[in-house]
Amino acid sequence: MNYTEGKGWHDARVVPFENLSLSPAAMVFHYGQEMFEGLKAYKGEDGRARLFRPEMNAKRTNASNERLCIPKIPEEDFVEAVRTVVSVDKDWIPTEKGTSLYIRPFIIATDAFLGVAPSKTYMFIIILSPSGAYYESGLAPVGIWIEDEYVRAVRGGMGFAKTGGNYAASLIAQVKAHDDGYSQVLWLDGVERKYIEEVGAMNIFFKIDGKIVTPMLNGSILPGITRNSVITLCKEWGYEVEERKVSVDELLEAQKSGKLEECFGTGTAAVISPVGKLRYKDDVMVISGGEIGPVSARIYDEITGIQGGTKEDKLGWITFVD
Ligand code: PMP
Repeated sequence: MNYTEGKGWHDARVVPFENLSLSPAAMVFHYGQEMFEGLKAYKGEDGRARLFRPEMNAKRTNASNERLCIPKIPEEDFVEAVRTVVSVDKDWIPTEKGTSLYIRPFIIATDAFLGVAPSKTYMFIIILSPSGAYYESGLAPVGIWIEDEYVRAVRGGMGFAKTGGNYAASLIAQVKAHDDGYSQVLWLDGVERKYIEEVGAMNIFFKIDGKIVTPMLNGSILPGITRNSVITLCKEWGYEVEERKVSVDELLEAQKSGKLEECFGTGTAAVISPVGKLRYKDDVMVISGGEIGPVSARIYDEITGIQGGTKEDKLGWITFVD
């Protein structure tokens, strides 16, 4: 689909996967005016294709667009566009447990103009790719590196938006963490470098003294759709859920006193990533004895069950694509 000032979004079409033709002066290349989303289509045992809460991706698209001066897309048009491309390619949705069709909608600024200003033309594109099971041999705990040198986002910045610049800013810390044997980076707030924000591509949860705790949305954290689903489920199951500031000091203290019972990341890619080890400077916190905690396992079963059609969709989270 294209956008032209004065004409709005127009020319929605499905075309075979092909290279784009863009001017080397296209604004997206120089000033990063772009946004993207990520969601998945799943095929249940009944053979029907399912999307998980795509209307939330539509809402988040427009939140990103607003921050980036990209024109908004009507939410129903976003969902319809996703349904249409998935419907065309639904035979490509793999069926083995844990597999899916990854859907990547994105918008780029296409004006060939070297001045810094919002573009007047855009392209909205959706590409698809079959995705293997995140955990080939069941849920496995990861080690996480709490980054104390670089920050990803600051208050008033773009942290809540899904835009490439946020990920470009994160690469250097990711390389550092990988070199040290950790698979993910956990970011701290950009002001005091004291409060936990989120992981590279996941939100983060802790179970502290029986309560489920997650950093509150403060403008510099991506409002994860899995995060929202986990909060909803945990409340339904009777857990006390707190969205609030969580400092590294609180975690260190809780771990020393045996109250840091579980930690897990949440995101579309893995659904749940149990965390067995958290490193902060010279401290390494081992959580749940480095094993998978019961809350992580229960949420994983519930959400993947709803996505795969083996658990009842009580909350209306599934959109079918026929
Ligand atoms: N934070 C960041 C920075 C992410 O890239 C993602 C993945 N989209 C998430 C959190 C989790 O969001 P969701 O649950 O919507 O996938």
